[in-house]
Amino acid sequence: MRLYNTLSRRVETFEPQGGRVGLYVCGITPYDTTHMGHAFTYVVFDTLVRYLRHLGYQVRYVQNVTDIDDDILNRARQMGIPWDELARMQTALYIQDMAALNVLPPDVFPWATQEIAGMIAIVQTLLERGYAYESGGSVYYSVRNDPGFGQLSKMDYPEMLKTANERGNYPDDPRKRDPLDFVLWQAAQPDEPSWDSPWGPGRPGWHIECSAMSMRYLGPTVDIHGGGADLVFPHHESEIAQSEHYTGVRPFVRIWMHTGMVRLGEEKMSKSLGNLVMVRDVLKQHSPDALRLYLLSFPYRESWAYRDAGVAAAEELATHLRAAAQSAGSSGPALDPSPWRTRFLAALDDDLNTPAAITALRDLATAIHGAQAEGRDTADARLALRELGDILGLTLR
Ligand SMILES: [Zn+2]
Repeated sequence: MRLYNTLSRRVETFEPQGGRVGLYVCGITPYDTTHMGHAFTYVVFDTLVRYLRHLGYQVRYVQNVTDIDDDILNRARQMGIPWDELARMQTALYIQDMAALNVLPPDVFPWATQEIAGMIAIVQTLLERGYAYESGGSVYYSVRNDPGFGQLSKMDYPEMLKTANERGNYPDDPRKRDPLDFVLWQAAQPDEPSWDSPWGPGRPGWHIECSAMSMRYLGPTVDIHGGGADLVFPHHESEIAQSEHYTGVRPFVRIWMHTGMVRLGEEKMSKSLGNLVMVRDVLKQHSPDALRLYLLSFPYRESWAYRDAGVAAAEELATHLRAAAQSAGSSGPALDPSPWRTRFLAALDDDLNTPAAITALRDLATAIHGAQAEGRDTADARLALRELGDILGLTLR
């Protein structure tokens, strides 16, 4: 299979080693689930998992829950409920929404607050090796000591600092030696949950969570690491820095895979802008098959704008596919589905080109309808339609 690698900026041949694939996808921060941006990312990776399994690979899919975070603490304060109750509640909603979308659950679903010992071990090693420093009970990663920092995002220092500041960095933190240094461990604040550590009570930084959880379950080299494109910097850049200097093993990740952002009109869909389209609201109007067909009609690397009319059009396609899959048998000459199957699989092989795969599936359904009208045997073709539809996560029910 060929996949685009954000690190090399090229489409590469992905060759799983020993028939096994370790996949890590950055999971939700459970306070605003589940909006269309989440749905796009997790439906794309669900389709990747289904396709890799169809090819015969043993996939181990790890997806974390960032169940401690500033956003969770702020939201829980506004709602007047305990932070961990909010996290549990929102994660339960997310699991329901994913099941409704026929997204297969990950094989491992670790929660950050259950993995803190592993994070502390990495921070200790980074301190010993001179890539981190302790200051006022917090520990920071020293970007000036790491000439490789910036390899994933391909940004220079000023651009990295500007982007980090837009995404939650505190450049004026007086405990930092460099404004771009990022926190590995943050000292406890009053009224915030904390865990014991060699540097006093506190909680982990966000980036270290994913280094610890990905390497614990998938080893020092992860085959495919994914997430939304807004995670390239600083989150994934920081994960590479921490992980490679902890293990001494390069690369930390063979293929970095990023999904495009979902907008509403001209704006990015985000909690802070208050323009979220929630999965459960869309599923009151449209079938899960229609929503999956709609999401997968966009090339996964591109950003796009959500339109309800687009889901309605996908509903017509879902009806077309379903009618073909459920049509009755006949005894005339058989319709051979192999040309459409070949097109479908070639499309997914080509950097998960789901729009082209959907077109092949639609054409197969059209051929089935035509053959049916001519009194031909469509049993094999209908079976193929179901099997290929299943790779896209369609139930065709
Ligand atoms: Zn992550």
